[in-house]
Amino acid sequence: MTSPAHLRYLDLITHSVWAALALHVAFGVFFALTGFRDLALFNAGSVALYALLAFQLRRGRFTVTLLLTTVEVILHARLALSALGFESGFQYYVFALIPAAFFHPHWRLPAKLVYLAGIAAAYATLDLSPVTQAGAAPLSPDTLLWVRTFNTFAAFGFVAYVTGFYSSVARQAENELAQLATLDPLTGLYNRRHMLGMVELELARLERSGKPATLLMADIDNFKGINDQHGHECGDLALKQIARCLRTVMRRQDHIARWGGEEFLLLLPETDLEGARVLADKLRARLAGKPLNWNDASLTFTLTAAIAQLQPGDDFLAALSAVDGGLLQGKREGKDCVVTVSALGEPTGPQVARAA
Ligand code: GH3
Ligand code: MG
Ligand code: MG
Repeated sequence: MTSPAHLRYLDLITHSVWAALALHVAFGVFFALTGFRDLALFNAGSVALYALLAFQLRRGRFTVTLLLTTVEVILHARLALSALGFESGFQYYVFALIPAAFFHPHWRLPAKLVYLAGIAAAYATLDLSPVTQAGAAPLSPDTLLWVRTFNTFAAFGFVAYVTGFYSSVARQAENELAQLATLDPLTGLYNRRHMLGMVELELARLERSGKPATLLMADIDNFKGINDQHGHECGDLALKQIARCLRTVMRRQDHIARWGGEEFLLLLPETDLEGARVLADKLRARLAGKPLNWNDASLTFTLTAAIAQLQPGDDFLAALSAVDGGLLQGKREGKDCVVTVSALGEPTGPQVARAA
């Protein structure tokens, strides 16, 4: 009953009913002032109808609302056209019903097509009927021109509003889908799948430019204890804060993903091992300086990181298992450190560094 599509249509149809009400008040006054008593009276009835529809809409009676609106629009057009002539443009409002019917959340396509055929037939009747074509008591040519122009803009405005409304809904849905496909919902970092795509792109760039890139895998130390002692909610909050913290240290061109539970993978383009080690130490320092306040406790985190430089022609999976091995080594050697490995899995240089 209250699906997002239902709520969106409720918004749309509520705005439309209020707009129709305002339009009928304005035309009611205009007809009263220009001496079209019948039209003014019909407008008063329409205002009452739209007011009623506006107040009962919360119950979600979309079909009744749309059908009553349709009858009102067509009868009103017929009356106005027979009084003022076809040039007055009151038939344009029939077109504005098309999008409102197509976005009806409960109608299936056949119902929409039947409705469409119905309003097309009604429009044809307005178009062909000698009564509406003649116009019994036309306005002055200038006033008629103003009325027709007003009706053109009002009908176009209404169609533009409905299509604009749904095009923004579609854009929002596309963005949400793209986010779901690329981001980890807890931390907002890239997910594993999207990171693999970024890695592929960076490797292709590396082949062309020959400039080094470095892979950095970081794993939060003793994280299980956080959940065990303070609960899962605290663990989740900590992961969010850690992700934010890591992100603030990176450069714009660096990529970061939540690779596993409390494991993060960073890809640092145009960065050699020295640069990556500096960054890893910055990450550790930033993490140490950002405790999480949870109830009465102040929780600080450390991480163990492994870095491996990628050369043109390197295999990503081999590099990945190299940094994995580096992480294990760092954990074995006391955690809270940075381990340097070669992409082929051989530890290089000073293997374990702790300087922050
Ligand atoms: P080590 O220092 O060796 O890395 O130890 P550890 O406890 O950090 O690592 P381990 O792999 O033993 O446990 C990781 C824990 O991370 C297990 C799980 O409770 C926690 N974890 C993983 N994903 C999430 C998550 O999304 N939310 C929360 N709250 N905890 C998570
Ligand atoms: Mg861990
Ligand atoms: Mg882990």
